[in-house]
Amino acid sequence: MTQKPKFALLPLGGCGEIGMNMTILFAGDETFFIDCGALFPDDSQPGVQLILPGFSWLTSEKIKPTAWLITHGHEDHIGGLPYFFPRFPAPIYTSGFAAALIEAKFKDLSIKKYKMKVWKDGEQTRIGKTKVIPFDVNHSIPHSMGLLVDTPHGRLLHTGDYRIDPDPFEKTRTDDRIRQVVKGRRPDVMMSDSTNAFVEGSDLSERDLEEDFEKIMHEATGAVVVASFSSNIWRAQTIIDAARSSGRGVHILGRGTRRNVGIAQELGVLNTRGVEILEDKDMKRRDREKVCILCTGSQGEQFSGLHRLAYDSVSYFKLDWGDHVVFSARSIPGNEKSIIYLTNQLCRQGVKVITAREADIHVSGHGFQDDLKACIKAANPRFFMPVHGEYRHLQKHGYLAHEVGMPEENTVLAENGDVVEITKRKIRISKRVANNRSYVSQGGVYHDEGQVSRSRSQIAQNGLVCVSVLFSKANYRIKGEPRVSVFGVPIQAGVVADVLPDLVRKSADKTKDRKDGNDKTFAEELRIQVRRYIESICRFRCIVQIMMHRA
Ligand SMILES: [Zn+2]
Ligand SMILES: [Zn+2]
Repeated sequence: MTQKPKFALLPLGGCGEIGMNMTILFAGDETFFIDCGALFPDDSQPGVQLILPGFSWLTSEKIKPTAWLITHGHEDHIGGLPYFFPRFPAPIYTSGFAAALIEAKFKDLSIKKYKMKVWKDGEQTRIGKTKVIPFDVNHSIPHSMGLLVDTPHGRLLHTGDYRIDPDPFEKTRTDDRIRQVVKGRRPDVMMSDSTNAFVEGSDLSERDLEEDFEKIMHEATGAVVVASFSSNIWRAQTIIDAARSSGRGVHILGRGTRRNVGIAQELGVLNTRGVEILEDKDMKRRDREKVCILCTGSQGEQFSGLHRLAYDSVSYFKLDWGDHVVFSARSIPGNEKSIIYLTNQLCRQGVKVITAREADIHVSGHGFQDDLKACIKAANPRFFMPVHGEYRHLQKHGYLAHEVGMPEENTVLAENGDVVEITKRKIRISKRVANNRSYVSQGGVYHDEGQVSRSRSQIAQNGLVCVSVLFSKANYRIKGEPRVSVFGVPIQAGVVADVLPDLVRKSADKTKDRKDGNDKTFAEELRIQVRRYIESICRFRCIVQIMMHRA
């Protein structure tokens, strides 16, 4: 940037979609990169494994972080870090659970050189001229933090993802914690999680779920399988507590769930005392009504534990009549079809499927309207910037802030790429600098405004026909046999090859008198001829690629 603002925020992700959260905080000559999440692609992006905030603008402006501040360990907050960090190295500050997950990711990608400082709730930390105070918030993964970033140029309160749990596994409620942290340090600006801005009221406590889980475990005559997110350790605790009081042992199925449960035990945030943890070998001889299985698969994911159980690919345990399967999560928009396929398959196995419609077996990790309003009141910021949502969520969250006294002109609705400047008197979007994305696919990370993924999806939609022809040096006389390859188009390669001499003649005739006639215009004409011919035969408008050679 030619002129760096004194105190400004630049969301690169998470303002306009739920996923890939990342914000740059500019404070004088210090720059903080807050969170670095990933977004999962939908069916329209074949071959894309992850979508990340764009990093080309940061690179071209030579922006270097003073530090990385990571609020918690969910994928939409850390999933991009292994790809950004090597390009933008700086010390990473985060909580214990997130640190363990980041370390595992770095190990997978052989990133060895990094400095990580593990934070505790309330631990005031000086980074350069800035003081950062991380504080516990209630959320669906342990050690979720909000941040008070107290710079010489302004004070930011970043909530991270949160809800208010009236009786939390975390020691304190989010709103109480915010009140304590901002005492004598009124935030200039508050960034707050908008995920559930449309949901009225507030949700149950995580602990309220134990009763229904217990009821299900008491009543089921077979095994009880609970599918949840592997990082939702509070849910694992609820399930383990219910299993303990209904006399069931717990089997942890799947690598990810086992790893996360292991991390949680090491960090002392999961209590498995008094419950029998069942290993693979224990499962065969165990009475089914004494078994509870904890796994992933609540979103119908293909390699999840629940998917493997449904398709009979767990060698030591098979589902049977009388077993109960509990989907202990909300379906994330976009996953509905996969969940329905999986549910049908489970029903074929004779099991009873229980969702949040039938019992209280899920609470959201994100605050409903009452929580959002309570936290704005508790923080009492001068300016407000809703984040972590689609534009409609951000707008709704802005209205909620207004209801609790935030003047409309003090709220800013920013989208990815907007530079939000904050002065003593006002908050405003001063410019838009970058609004692109990076993509992770098999070959690594690329940045091309989506062109690679667009052309891949065009091929997937329309199919591809490649024609390779050798011409003599002087004219368009075909030498040898042309080669035709067909991918995903309902026509035989030989049919196209047979008519090729005709199409070549037609193309040569059409281009010979053109002023701009050359090999390039000829090849383009031939491409159109081949495409038209294929369309006339099988009504398929495919992509045609002509490769011309001369000898
Ligand atoms: Zn989260
Ligand atoms: Zn999130």
